[in-house]
Amino acid sequence: MNASARAVVIGGGVVGASTLYHLAKIGWTDVLLIEKSELAAGSTWHAAGGMHTFNGEANISRLQKYTIDLYREIEALSGQSCGLHPNGGLMLAATPGELDSLKLICSRARYLGMETEMISLDEARRLNPLIDATHFIGALWRADGGHCDPSGTTHAYVKAARQLGASVERFTRVLSLGQRRDGSWDVVTDKGTVQAEHVVNCAGLWAREVGHMVGIELPVLAMEHHYLLTEDIPELQGRDKEIVNTTDYAGEIYMRQERAGALIGTYEPHGVIWSPVKTPDDFSMQLLPDDFERLAPYFELGFQHFPALGRVGIRKAINGPFTFAPDGNPLVGPVRGVRNFWVACAVMAGFSQGGGIGLVLSRWMADNDPGQDIISMDVARFGAFATPKYTSLKVPENYSRRFRLAYPNEELPAARPVRRSPIYDKLKAAGAVMGASFGLEHALWFAPAGVVPSETPTYRRSEAFPIVRAECEAVRNTVGLYETTNYGKYEVTGRGARAWLDRVFASRIPRPGRLGLAPMLSPTGRIVGDLSIACLAEDRFLIVGSGFAEEFHMRWFWASEPPADVFVRSAASTLTGVSIAGPRSRKLMQRLVRDDLSASAFKLFQVRQTAVGFAPAILTRAGFTGELGYEIWTTPDYFASLYDDLWDVGRELGLAHFGGRALSSLRLEKGYGSFNKDFRPDYSAGETGLDRLVDFGKSDFAGRAAALAERAAGPKRRFVVMEIATADADVIGYESIIKDGVAVGYVTSGAYGHCIGKSLAAGYVPSALARDGERFEIDILGESRAATVRLQPLYDPQGLRLRA
Ligand SMILES: Cc1cc2nc3c(=O)[nH]c(=O)nc-3n(C[C@H](O)[C@H](O)[C@H](O)COP(=O)(O)OP(=O)(O)OC[C@H]3O[C@@H](n4cnc5c(N)ncnc54)[C@H](O)[C@@H]3O)c2cc1C
Repeated sequence: MNASARAVVIGGGVVGASTLYHLAKIGWTDVLLIEKSELAAGSTWHAAGGMHTFNGEANISRLQKYTIDLYREIEALSGQSCGLHPNGGLMLAATPGELDSLKLICSRARYLGMETEMISLDEARRLNPLIDATHFIGALWRADGGHCDPSGTTHAYVKAARQLGASVERFTRVLSLGQRRDGSWDVVTDKGTVQAEHVVNCAGLWAREVGHMVGIELPVLAMEHHYLLTEDIPELQGRDKEIVNTTDYAGEIYMRQERAGALIGTYEPHGVIWSPVKTPDDFSMQLLPDDFERLAPYFELGFQHFPALGRVGIRKAINGPFTFAPDGNPLVGPVRGVRNFWVACAVMAGFSQGGGIGLVLSRWMADNDPGQDIISMDVARFGAFATPKYTSLKVPENYSRRFRLAYPNEELPAARPVRRSPIYDKLKAAGAVMGASFGLEHALWFAPAGVVPSETPTYRRSEAFPIVRAECEAVRNTVGLYETTNYGKYEVTGRGARAWLDRVFASRIPRPGRLGLAPMLSPTGRIVGDLSIACLAEDRFLIVGSGFAEEFHMRWFWASEPPADVFVRSAASTLTGVSIAGPRSRKLMQRLVRDDLSASAFKLFQVRQTAVGFAPAILTRAGFTGELGYEIWTTPDYFASLYDDLWDVGRELGLAHFGGRALSSLRLEKGYGSFNKDFRPDYSAGETGLDRLVDFGKSDFAGRAAALAERAAGPKRRFVVMEIATADADVIGYESIIKDGVAVGYVTSGAYGHCIGKSLAAGYVPSALARDGERFEIDILGESRAATVRLQPLYDPQGLRLRA
């Protein structure tokens, strides 16, 4: 075994194999894969090999397409067959909600360049004659997908990587990892030690244990999973083509042809966690005992929906474990605080996602940048809240919903509530319907007295629609209260704080007493943060951004190497906050604050440290609604008193609660983009319009060269808000934006603008088409709707109310 390597990949499953291949392909030929057993011996060898492009997140769908297309490349390079059956895919809907979801997939697929269409049940039966169509009301067909041979595919990756110079050590176990002062690793194995600049955890079923080697607890857990192989099915005899791989939402079943029989698998509701505490060291190429008693009712349903399967015998049953993260997406990327340590684990769809993961991870390792937005599979989407208990509740929930629809207005119940603010019970008593983000409960909308605080899952407007309208109107006409504790908050202090912030952020850093909007760019000029910075004193700053991105931003700050005289810490759990917004907000606040809050004394974007009622607080004149408004930050011990004080003085002014849904509507009426939805690492400063905040006069800041180059050339596309001619359903996200029959972009967010009476969608279109009044079409749940660009905010275009 070599004594050193540029990177050691731990684990020779399909994910480790792909990572090895991609590292070698970008020119890191001095890479070594270490596998404790035979290649593919973890969860890979017994997989059903199914592959598809479906994912709720457009970028992950793209990476899945990349993975499927890659198989021909590695076959050619290695000479090893991946055993491809590119049969395509069928998805069956049994309810109107399921049908809506298929239509949404179709609308999304156009911009992604994937051949997908709604087809009749007769056509579906031609593609798969085993379907009993009486159980279904609609079907979607997609060209991409099928299945491959798991072992052949893993070997093809490895052989191709070897061709490019990479090495592999089988039957070698990594025992421990020790970091040297220079950041490189001693990878200690049972056959000696390898010194490596980088280590990648691709240990699949053992990823948790490899995480422990560097002192981290990854939110990953394995579930048992069954599928059956039937004997030969007479109905399949004489066909010249295999049937199309089929997913049955209602039955939570997947099925496909396997030789002259079928393979049928189910994601049952009460799944079983495998090895909850420690994965056995000696587990290798083993199957788990069958549990037909538990699974019979679910397979029975499959036999009703595909009756020919029930008429033949079962040739073989497979029960094997594989891993999931709490939300079902992989865990990929660097880990804050552990230099040169990377993860690519919790991959539950290795044959759809393994190639894409290898691609982005290799770019990330080489360039410090994954090359595209992959926040939804970034390991940093989880933080300290994802404890083993949280993971043990969320993973089985996710498993049971693998083929269940995720409605856009649906909040999942497992592991709730985890993080609660001090006013959680008060908000619940006021009718709050809660969502959870980064483990923290936050109000989505408030059910008035007499209305049940729950909502029917739907892709269309729900019973909350008129209630959200009333919340929006309260903000625009009187005054509203929104809890902002779920925002990401960071304190940056120390003598060197201003100089460091100046390098990290692209904007001007505000002077004491001022707040500034602050974009953060990657070295390639992409948006990695859209935050605000409040300067409390020359050496003290409060930074506020998206709550879900706390770990993502903390990792970014850490990687930006604050010098010894700069202290950065998250204030996620040490600061709580509310936003008070609306024309009567000044009157309300003045009743609780001694300072003069008149328009000339406390202007937009000013900051004060003061007392609000009982609470010592940081008070800013800012907000996200487009109205006169304030944000108040205080410590958790004062927060309930602050809330009570606000209500004591606000009740007679018409104070009303508003939640996240109303905020989405209010901010789109003003044309404000939101980080992770509209502003993401896929887009640049010029494209988002955040270039207006970039201080091009600064001599040095991250992303400067790229931002300057873009300023000279002009952005290729632009963020716009569009008005949609629709009556009963609004956009959800990722629907294609069509111009003259061609998909030119996709929707990044949308909402109904209750106070302007229009349905709104935001997204990116080519710069030449980003003109006021330009018309596009957007397919909303199967109906083509006219979309008209509005370059001016549709509400208060001059910003007079904001500055009032
Ligand atoms: C029954 C079943 C059906 C499935 N069907 C599908 C499907 O149809 N489509 C699909 O895409 N996915 C499917 N999957 C999931 C798929 O198997 C996984 O996504 C995939 O195997 C994950 O691969 P991996 O490389 O991350 O992990 P693994 O395959 O578990 O590989 C990890 C490797 O790391 C090695 N290792 C661990 N610790 C060490 C150490 N300390 N030192 C050295 N080596 C170490 C292990 O020996 C192992 O080989 C299925 C899984 C099961 C169980």
